[in-house]
Amino acid sequence: MKGLMMDYPLTTNIIIEYGNRVFSRKEIVSKLPDGSWHRYTYGDLYKRTKKLSNALINKLVVKQSERVATFCWNHYEHLEMYYAIPGVGAVCHPLNVRLSIDQIVYIIKHAEDKVIFFDATLAPLLEKVAPQVSPDIKYIVVNAPTGFKTSIPNVLNYETLIANESETFEWVKVDENDACGLSYTSGTTGDPKGALYSHRSTYLHALTVMTPNGANISSNDRVLLVVPQFHVMAWGYPFVCILAGADMVFPSMHLQPDALIDILQKEKITIANGVPTIWMGVYDALKNNPPKEKLALKEYIVGGSALAPSLTRSFEKDFGLKGTQAWGMTETSPLGTTSRIQKIHENLSYEEQLKIRSKQGYELPGVELRAIMEDGKIAPRDGHAVGEFEIRGAWIIASYYKFSDNASRFSKDGWFKTGDVGTIDENGYMNITDRSKDLIKSGGEWISSMALELALMGIPKIKEAAVIAIPDDKWVERPLACIVLKEGETITIEEIRTALSNEFASYQIPNSFVLLKEVPKTSVGKFDKKEMRRLHAIDQLK
Ligand code: ADP
Repeated sequence: MKGLMMDYPLTTNIIIEYGNRVFSRKEIVSKLPDGSWHRYTYGDLYKRTKKLSNALINKLVVKQSERVATFCWNHYEHLEMYYAIPGVGAVCHPLNVRLSIDQIVYIIKHAEDKVIFFDATLAPLLEKVAPQVSPDIKYIVVNAPTGFKTSIPNVLNYETLIANESETFEWVKVDENDACGLSYTSGTTGDPKGALYSHRSTYLHALTVMTPNGANISSNDRVLLVVPQFHVMAWGYPFVCILAGADMVFPSMHLQPDALIDILQKEKITIANGVPTIWMGVYDALKNNPPKEKLALKEYIVGGSALAPSLTRSFEKDFGLKGTQAWGMTETSPLGTTSRIQKIHENLSYEEQLKIRSKQGYELPGVELRAIMEDGKIAPRDGHAVGEFEIRGAWIIASYYKFSDNASRFSKDGWFKTGDVGTIDENGYMNITDRSKDLIKSGGEWISSMALELALMGIPKIKEAAVIAIPDDKWVERPLACIVLKEGETITIEEIRTALSNEFASYQIPNSFVLLKEVPKTSVGKFDKKEMRRLHAIDQLK
């Protein structure tokens, strides 16, 4: 028997309609690429989004299901695209501006983008891409200074495009399972692959991220969206914030620690997101120049790589700022887990609680996790049995977009294989020890590169540390630790080995160390271990 409830499709249109109805005076602030500030309200966003939807249909002749790309920083115009493109039934496809030209060309061709909106400051990059992709693509420039010139063909100005369009628009009717967004993985393993989000998955993800066990965002918050809109749709925050009615602040390209601190202070930000490298930079900058007043920041949410307990502790002790770790992937929209302590942990010491918070956390409602051991069995939730994490749920990819080898990434019963390896404990907390491609097996024993990295970064003289496997005649593989020291510091191998010896067995402690000026990073600021292995193979990392 069917329930007798309304059929109410969960779409991105519902989100922006709600925001306009209930929170029309909430603020959206952007620090634009030229350093100027722009402020308007949810109500203004609503009207301009409708103008853009009209332009997409009337001037750019975008049809339902077609892909419309963006090549932009985080700002209000990009937010308008996030709603206007799905609003006409098309698919919003943010392109990662930090990928190589070859990868960007590959992705545009693969997605068959019809239109590309781009920031004027990014024109030099796009000029290298445009000659290599379809000549039929239409380009729209955003934030163009007067006299802006480019070799990119068919360029229209964003403001001119929407200027004479009506503020009235009837959203194109879509099914909640229709696609609304497309995000490619950053290609750390092979060609980038596309995750095609549906309206429904986007809505349910946003609704859950906003809850107290997720990012805990409400209409009392002012949120700084540090994660680029071109990376997993800024972790879905442009949808989360409007559902929550939170003020939104966009930093565009102003992501240097001092610029972020300035925004945190001036805009009284209460929640911000970002990868650990961003927060490491912010911590160092605060340390060099301590703020006169305590920041309003309640919580910074970290994902993309592990949050080192040493960083969490220092932020809390020195500035009273709380870090919360989240885990996810492009394929999981991205949020799968968040790590918060619970009532049951209340009586534990600070250090014991920190140990728990340093795990990746428990599943959000709507997704399910399991770890599959080498023998194919599901690992018990005991905090010891190691397996590869598999996930399924309402915002988890069911197959990659136009990809021939889907079968290899899914279990026979349809769970997505994450490629992350670790344990789940009796309270449901996942603890990642590695990505399967980064595992180190030395003399038949697994060594966790992540555990080593976190411990190395806990040594006060060390700023960054990344550990990779290198071939070894006797042990097959051994860990190599690449270390970046804090300014003005020196360290001996013995000092490092002694510091690690409390936590690690001697076979787990690296014998080989290299000092680097900087650890190579991926397009989204993670340690680029593929590049480090390549450098090692060609003798540049020895
Ligand atoms: P890419 O696969 O190109 O790196 P993603 O941003 O989708 O792009 O990366 C997802 C991966 O990032 C996860 O599979 C996991 O290995 C890593 N990751 C994400 N969050 C965390 C976290 N909190 N701790 C450790 N690793 C994380």
